[in-house]
Amino acid sequence: LVVLTDVNKHFGDLHVLQDINLTVHEGEVVVVIGPSGSGKSTLCRTINRLETYESGTITIDGQDLPQEGKALARLRADVGMVFQSFNLFSHKTILENVTLGPIKVRGLKPKEAEKQAMALLERVGVAHQAKKYPAQLSGGQQQRVAIARSLAMEPRVMLFDEPTSALDPEMINEVLDVMVSLAKSGMTMIVVTHEMGFARKAADRVVFMSDGAIVEENTPEEFFTNPQSPRAKDFLGKIL
Ligand code: ATP
Ligand code: MG
Repeated sequence: LVVLTDVNKHFGDLHVLQDINLTVHEGEVVVVIGPSGSGKSTLCRTINRLETYESGTITIDGQDLPQEGKALARLRADVGMVFQSFNLFSHKTILENVTLGPIKVRGLKPKEAEKQAMALLERVGVAHQAKKYPAQLSGGQQQRVAIARSLAMEPRVMLFDEPTSALDPEMINEVLDVMVSLAKSGMTMIVVTHEMGFARKAADRVVFMSDGAIVEENTPEEFFTNPQSPRAKDFLGKIL
């Protein structure tokens, strides 16, 4: 579904993505891990065309990544993204946060959008908060709203960039549980996270990045118990 071939990108002198080759099949869950500064966020942002790249190709469902205009807007709807910071609209209610995109971009009628939004808020366990404003919710609840808001665009693939790293420990699991259930429902997902529990429960594959390159790719069991490269061993030694 998502195919990157020989993708290269620089930030000035920094070769931030080096010959990236990555294929994510329909329904697959890929966890990306690696040290700070290894290019994980840049990879996500490049797939979503929030960043440009200099060479190589990225296709979604066989289509080249569009550069601009309507095709790019459609891509953004097809590729949902959830960030570390929840980025909810603070002056809009939870319900409005989730209905806004579907009404504006997908052209849903407000009633339809609300019905869909309530079902999604139910699914992530915050339906009873629909009339509140983001600041009235906990971080974990806000992040679950952010997930519902992305799902409301009916994406083909969901990108998560360290979705739990800004959360208090007791809220991490409520967000991971939603992500695990999304994975089990067959959603195609690319997840940057250091949460090993999530990787073991939900990932089909772990991709290890270091200095802008994919150094190692394996099943979670193999990767965590038997890393091959010195850099992966070193990294796991620090975080496990
Ligand atoms: P972290 O685990 O800390 O989130 P990361 O793996 O997500 O790290 P990136 O955010 O992708 O890493 O950054 C990769 C490298 O690119 C870093 O050295 C960073 O300083 C650099 N970088 C990121 N964004 C920019 C930018 N807009 N301009 C210049 N350099 C950048
Ligand atoms: Mg990052």
